[in-house]
Amino acid sequence: MSASTIELLPNHLGGQRHVGTGAGTTLLDPVLGDALVRVDATGLDLPGGFERVRRQGGAALRALTYRERAGLLKAVAQVLQAGRDAYFALSTANSGTVKNDSAVDIDGAIYTIGVYAKLGEALGDARVLADGEFVALAKGGAFGSRHVQVPTRGLALCINAFNFPSWGLWEKAAPALLSGVPVVVKPATATAWLTQRMVQDVIDAGVLPAGALNVVCGSSAGLLDALQPFDGLSFTGSADTAALLRRHPAVAERSVRINIEADSVNSALLMPGATPGSAAFELLVKEVAREMTQKSGQKCTAIRRVLVPEALYGAAAEAIGARLARVTVGNPRNESVRMGALVSRAQFDAVQAGIAQLQGVAETLHDGRGAALVDADPAVAACVAPVLLGSRDPDQHALLHTTEVFGPVATLMPYRDLDHARALVARGEGSLACSLYGEDDDAAADALAATALDLAAVHGRVHVVTPAVAALHTGHGNVMPQSLHGGPGRAGGGEELGGLRALNFHHRRAAVQAAPTVLSRLTPPTPPAA
Ligand code: NAP
Repeated sequence: MSASTIELLPNHLGGQRHVGTGAGTTLLDPVLGDALVRVDATGLDLPGGFERVRRQGGAALRALTYRERAGLLKAVAQVLQAGRDAYFALSTANSGTVKNDSAVDIDGAIYTIGVYAKLGEALGDARVLADGEFVALAKGGAFGSRHVQVPTRGLALCINAFNFPSWGLWEKAAPALLSGVPVVVKPATATAWLTQRMVQDVIDAGVLPAGALNVVCGSSAGLLDALQPFDGLSFTGSADTAALLRRHPAVAERSVRINIEADSVNSALLMPGATPGSAAFELLVKEVAREMTQKSGQKCTAIRRVLVPEALYGAAAEAIGARLARVTVGNPRNESVRMGALVSRAQFDAVQAGIAQLQGVAETLHDGRGAALVDADPAVAACVAPVLLGSRDPDQHALLHTTEVFGPVATLMPYRDLDHARALVARGEGSLACSLYGEDDDAAADALAATALDLAAVHGRVHVVTPAVAALHTGHGNVMPQSLHGGPGRAGGGEELGGLRALNFHHRRAAVQAAPTVLSRLTPPTPPAA
């Protein structure tokens, strides 16, 4: 098929549909290698389009109350629910994921929108948020100050990574829309199809004001140049791209607010006192195997480092390896396949290179790559089977703590005592998530709480798993909209989700100083709980 006969997906910006005038980039099926669709933004007037988004989309959204905007989110969720089967098909074709992994992306997005719809409903008929209480600035309180949060007058440019074309879109868009801020999404090119289709479906359904939701596919050229001082930039992707964006004049000179979710070398820690086969040991083994293989390890929150008491290194290697050995890899259309592909051949090469790099400083404890793929051609499919590495001397090699191989790969490490374990975890230089595995008794709970607080300084989220919550916990790598997503240091320093906390990014905080009679008319008296 010649490139020009492959469907070219339109962009949608400021209430207008635009078809790129260039040759575009062809999106591929990462399992079969087939050409799917093309994306292109050549010829798109970004400054003009962004201005329409601010004027039309922004003004229309801000005219509504939080409750009314929550209603819009409910309507969006209904549109997506209706298109769910088509989205699963697109996900299989363009991301190479098995059904359960597609569900993490698609159903996870619909759930997140639903949570924000409920939170918005609870905010009621207000158009601004209170921030703290009245503070007297004059004797007797005849003059004072109150803080308010008002929706920003700009737009939210949301640039996403390739691994979550659906969830990545909506976990950013839902809080922005609820805040009254229009969204321009720029999906990662490799998997842009699902994002583009969802946005197009919502636009076609007419459930949002014109210009409230927009999609630009293809090259990122010019996007940041078109940003103005009151816009926000919400980025998810690699640390390298994040560094470029931080230096861009929009951010460095025009003070565009930026949130960065970057890569992260997350860890799982089996607490001291565990024995082979103990409940905590088994919970860790199960979660590590799940995290390594869910979405073929292409989750920013996935477990990359596994820390166990040194006496358990061998037993843990064996138990995790045994679980990984049961994972069938190949074409997600075959029902027997548990793990599909990486998103592209480029990622396949990057993951193979990353494994080779880590093998230079680590031993190989399990390598599934020798097994035949199910229904897939190894010369074409971007499928990599799980690899468990290990290092008996994790203090020696910085690479183990700083290299994120974005695939089904993790490294097992022994620790001497809890201080040593915490020091090893902290060598990740700031991560998105850490999980702890212990028992339920009081002494264990004391140690888990103390360790969680210690590690909270270097993580956005600490996830504690004990036998009492074995069947209830939400998973190390699952990002719940109620909890904060983001992490300090190398993880980008960003904050997303966390319930209503996500609205902070899309509001401007200001102090109003006046007589109490004026201040009492600004907002409801107390800020809503997060
Ligand atoms: P990437 O290469 O940094 O790309 C991310 C996004 O940035 C893509 O949409 C890309 O567009 C765009 N982009 C690239 N250069 C740009 C520029 N100069 N200006 C504006 N936008 C630009 O990252 P990736 O390879 O897609 O994603 C994998 C990485 O993301 C992993 O390291 C993973 O850990 C991280 N990640 C983090 C999180 C988190 O929440 N912390 C979540 C998911 C993934 P094109 O695709 O068109 O190049």
